[in-house]
Amino acid sequence: MINSALLHQTLKDNFGFEKFRPNQEKIINSILSQKDVLAIMPTGGGKSICFQLPALLLPGITIVISPLIALMKDQVDSLKANGIDACYINSSQSDQEQQLHIEAIINNKIKLVYVAPESLSYLENTFNQITVSLIAIDEAHCISSWGHDFRPAYTNLGYLKNRFTSTPILALTATADKATRTDICQQLNLINPTVFISSFDRKNLSLEVRPALDRVKQIIDFIDKKPNECGIIYCLSRKTTEELAEKLQKAGINANPYHAGLDSNTRAQTQDTFINDDCQVVCATIAFGMGIDKSNVRWVIHYNLPKNIEGYYQEIGRAGRDGLPSETILFESYGDLIQLQKFASQGLNAEVQLSKLERMKQYADAVSCRRKILLSYFGEIVTENCGNCDVCKNPPEFFDGTILAQKALSGIIRLKESEPLPVIVDFLRGSKNASIFDKEYQNLKTYGVGSDVSWHDWNQYIIQLINQGYCEIAFHQKNHIKLTALAHEVLFNGEKVQLTTVHKVVVENSAVKESKNTKSKKDSLFEVLRKIRYDISKEESVPAYVIFSDAVLKEMEINRPMSDDELLAIDGVGKVKSEKYGDIFIKAIIDFHKSKAAKPKKGATTYKETLALFESGLSPEAIAKKRNLGVSTIMSHLAKLYQEGVAIDLFQFVTKEEVAKIAKAKISLESPTALKPYFDHFEEQIPYEKIRLALAIIEKESSK
Ligand code: ADP
Ligand code: ZN
Repeated sequence: MINSALLHQTLKDNFGFEKFRPNQEKIINSILSQKDVLAIMPTGGGKSICFQLPALLLPGITIVISPLIALMKDQVDSLKANGIDACYINSSQSDQEQQLHIEAIINNKIKLVYVAPESLSYLENTFNQITVSLIAIDEAHCISSWGHDFRPAYTNLGYLKNRFTSTPILALTATADKATRTDICQQLNLINPTVFISSFDRKNLSLEVRPALDRVKQIIDFIDKKPNECGIIYCLSRKTTEELAEKLQKAGINANPYHAGLDSNTRAQTQDTFINDDCQVVCATIAFGMGIDKSNVRWVIHYNLPKNIEGYYQEIGRAGRDGLPSETILFESYGDLIQLQKFASQGLNAEVQLSKLERMKQYADAVSCRRKILLSYFGEIVTENCGNCDVCKNPPEFFDGTILAQKALSGIIRLKESEPLPVIVDFLRGSKNASIFDKEYQNLKTYGVGSDVSWHDWNQYIIQLINQGYCEIAFHQKNHIKLTALAHEVLFNGEKVQLTTVHKVVVENSAVKESKNTKSKKDSLFEVLRKIRYDISKEESVPAYVIFSDAVLKEMEINRPMSDDELLAIDGVGKVKSEKYGDIFIKAIIDFHKSKAAKPKKGATTYKETLALFESGLSPEAIAKKRNLGVSTIMSHLAKLYQEGVAIDLFQFVTKEEVAKIAKAKISLESPTALKPYFDHFEEQIPYEKIRLALAIIEKESSK
């Protein structure tokens, strides 16, 4: 039996990681004791290590069955970057190329070989000449017709157990449902498999649902704030992907569409540029993503409501595989819901699809922690609120909405229950447009009774009334809003209605905002390191995240390793990478450090003056007056002096709680170099001086 210390050593030396993620070590131990294993882990959970690490410890070769050529290439690139001998065999290669690989396999020069199920036959002769120590079957749910990605070639894989009777098989998937699980074990002929099911919670993904008003503008504003972060926008239709990409391009954003209707060259190119950090945004249908291992997707937006929670969770799961905080936003619109209901009711299994859609809608309308709802959908019961979804961050405030409800419901009656939502809102607000005047609605009673409430808020209130069952949308009658029996209780029997305040979505003016965030981040150490990584990735023709993940660069930014040992202590830096890239990254860090440290010297005398006055007992305000400078300038002097080691008690100007808050914001804002992002983050409640002082304290602490 191999002990835990050796496993950790192997993990660090070869992959650079300091510790295992949940279940990785257990799965590896089972394999090493020759057991068959079924491992269920969410996307980004770290499945690959579960077979890559044992492959290094076992004497023979590990065969990895993988459904997608792009995925194989990516994994082989990553392994090679860590100095591990691996190759893949698939139909994209020439005979010659395949022959070369096969020779290497026979000569024991390879530890892992990736092969598509369709190409297994190419290896049939080779199998007689080698020892197969482990067979890993990735995306194992493809074997099951119950699952969502059924692949006929997978159904032949059952023969592997008969062919290699004593070789353990590891089946891996992110699909959790029971029917698929049983099917996988049976079809692969696994013998008493140990089943490991990891938590599906991806804590680093924030969850947010917004009403779909001004979607494009909201998206542009969102992307403008993160010019160096890439993301995926999922759309319902091919047409939307193209239109949206075009709008984003017009706004100066590097975006491309992706859908199954584009020719394969265009698709491959879009995928490649995205993977290689040369395209920031992909507007895609659900056809995009399965073959993408890119670990630094920083956000995922759903432009339209997804069909079901499984799909939604898989799609947002493509963000933040490296474990860094990543954002997800879902835009909810009634129009989408109507369209999806139509599709679902016309398709196969209409009843099931409609009920799945209903769960999706309930998720979007949730007034309690969204993560709890998601996880309970996957059978995980959580008692704590997550703190990282919009509901947790901004809990809904209930108020007595009875009068609003009465106005809306009686308005609906006046319009004879034969108008859709927008017309009802126009009517309540007393709008003077064609939808009102054409039918002379302005002469009806209750016209304009709600002119004091904004269009957006009315819209949301009526949606809340629909969600609470007071009225409903007649999908088959031009989406007219009808009352239900419950409405009569409100109108005639005095039933009270609770509504929740509508949160304002702040849509900033992007022209004013300009590139202030771009500027603040551009000269950060992270960006310097990112540029170096990008250049190396081009030289070596591999995706940038294969060199080092964003998480590793972030660690370098925080810990500033300046020697080989310090670099090796970074989570994610292994031996081979530290030897290969260490010098160049260390040099960049030292240079950066020097250039930043050099700056304050320019104003040395002016700091000295401030210090002398401060030490003589003057307050910052008094010093400012005396020196004819702003208080904030004096504060910045004190911060600088403190950072350079002068013993000043900054806690007399900023509380420990404030420092803790700012430290937290520093992480969530990803260490901006400017103060403005913090100021905005705290909604202008913490003054600049305090932010500056707190940052000085935090930085001093972290450099100890
Ligand atoms: P999955 O196949 O389950 O989606 P991957 O195997 O691609 O996940 O791993 C997701 C990311 O997590 C990769 O960037 C990988 O390098 C990283 N990772 C895996 N195991 C660890 C670990 N023990 N510590 C830190 N990062 C890890
Ligand atoms: Zn929550």
